[in-house]
Amino acid sequence: MAANVIVIGAGVYGAAVAASLARRGARVVVVEAGLPAHGTSGATFSWTNASAKPAGPYRDLNVAGLAAHRRLAAGAAGAAGATGADWYHGSGNLQWAAAGDDEARQTLRAKVTGLLDDGYDVRWLSRSEAADIEPGIDPAGLPADEIAFFPHEGWVAPERLISYLLSVAAAHGAELLTGDGVAALETSADQVNAVRMASGRTLAAAAVVNCAGPRASVIAELVGLDLPMRNTCGLLVRVSAVAPPVSRVVHAPRVHLRPDGAGGLLMHSPALDEAVRTSDSGPVVADDTAVGRLLEAGRALCPAARNAAVDGIRIGERPIPGDGLPVLGRAADLPNFHFAVSHSGVTLCLHAGGLVADEVLGLDRDEALAPFRFERFRAAPGPAVGAIPS
Ligand SMILES: Cc1cc2nc3c(=O)[nH]c(=O)nc-3n(C[C@H](O)[C@H](O)[C@H](O)COP(=O)(O)OP(=O)(O)OC[C@H]3O[C@@H](n4cnc5c(N)ncnc54)[C@H](O)[C@@H]3O)c2cc1C
Repeated sequence: MAANVIVIGAGVYGAAVAASLARRGARVVVVEAGLPAHGTSGATFSWTNASAKPAGPYRDLNVAGLAAHRRLAAGAAGAAGATGADWYHGSGNLQWAAAGDDEARQTLRAKVTGLLDDGYDVRWLSRSEAADIEPGIDPAGLPADEIAFFPHEGWVAPERLISYLLSVAAAHGAELLTGDGVAALETSADQVNAVRMASGRTLAAAAVVNCAGPRASVIAELVGLDLPMRNTCGLLVRVSAVAPPVSRVVHAPRVHLRPDGAGGLLMHSPALDEAVRTSDSGPVVADDTAVGRLLEAGRALCPAARNAAVDGIRIGERPIPGDGLPVLGRAADLPNFHFAVSHSGVTLCLHAGGLVADEVLGLDRDEALAPFRFERFRAAPGPAVGAIPS
C-alpha cells in the first residue's frame, strides 16, 4: 500500500495544508470525521487581522497571514477561467471605544500608536469620514473622532475558502475521505506509520499533519504527546437583511459586525460568549437573553437591521493552545508528525499552513517556526498571550 501524507481535519488549516502539499506534488489524503467546514471554521467571525496581536513573532506571523490571503485572492482572481476569489473581502476594519469610556479610549490610542510605530497601516477617522464609508451605521452611535480604520484587514467566507483549497488539492490528486474519524495512529521507533480510522480502514502514512482544531489534543494523545489546550466557545448570530447594513468588519463597543454573504449580517460580542455552556449534547446557549442582547446592540447601531430576521445561531469552539500561541511544525521526537493548530486560524491558515507543508516536504522552516514549536510545553511554561480576540 502506497504511503501518503495524511492530513487530519478539513477545516481552514487542513484545506490549506493539503492544497500547499498537493500543489507541490505530494500524495495527500485528507481525513475528516464529519464534513469539510463543519468544525470551528464553520462557526467563526473570520476577521483577518494582525492588529489584535501583541508585537513580536506572533503579530509578524499574522501580518504574513494577511499578505498570504491577498496573494491567494489575487492569484485566483487572475487565473484563466476563474470566477474570482469570492471568499476574500479585504475591505478593512473599523474600531472605536465608547464615548465616555476614557480607559477604553486610552487603550485604543496606545494600540494604534504601537501599531503605527511597527509600520502597520492604521489611520484615524472622524465621525463623518466613518459615516461616509459605512452609511448604514447610525452616526449617533459613532464618537466624534478617534475611529480607527485598518484598511488591510478584512474577512473571509471560510466555507468558500475551504471549498476552493480542497478543489485545488483534488486537482493535484489529493483524496478527501469524510464521515470517518481517526481512531488510532500506529507508530514505531520515532515515526508514524499508519492511521487507523473508526471504520476499521487503515491508511499507510508517510507523514501525518494534525489539523484537528479543538480536538488536536486528542490526536496528539494518540502518539503519546500531551498538547495542553484551553479552548473557549463563542456565540455568533446571523440575521438576514435586504442588503447588509455594513460593508466591512466593524468593532463597535457593544457588538462586532461583518457582512456574511447573501444579505447576511454576522454579529458577535465577546461579552456574551459566557452565555454558552457545555452540555451532554455539546455546547448550548444557556442564557436565553444573550441572543436578544446581541440583536439589540446590532440593531441600535444599524437601523437597516431593525427588521432583519435571525436566520442562524452558531456556536464555535476556539482551538486555543495552552499559552494562546499557535502550535506549528514537526514534533521533535516524531519528525513525520506535524502540528497546524491555532486560534486566529482563518488569518493564519495560508501562511502558517504553507510553512507546515514546507516541513512535511523536508524544508527547514525553523527560523519562522521556532517560537511555535510543540516542544515549548515541555519547558517551563512561558507567559500566555493576552486577550483572545473575537
Ligand atoms: C466565535 C469564534 C470567533 C473567531 N474569530 C476569528 C477571527 O475573527 N479571525 C480568525 O482568524 N480566527 C477566528 N476564530 C478562530 C478560527 O475560526 C479557528 O482558529 C479556525 O477556524 C480553526 O480551524 P481548524 O482547521 O484548525 O479547525 P476546524 O475548523 O475545527 O477543523 C478541524 C476539523 O478536524 C476534524 N476532526 C477532529 N477530530 C478528528 C478526527 N479524530 N478524525 C478526523 N477528523 C477530525 C473536525 O471534524 C473538523 O472539521 C474564531 C473562532 C470562534 C469560535
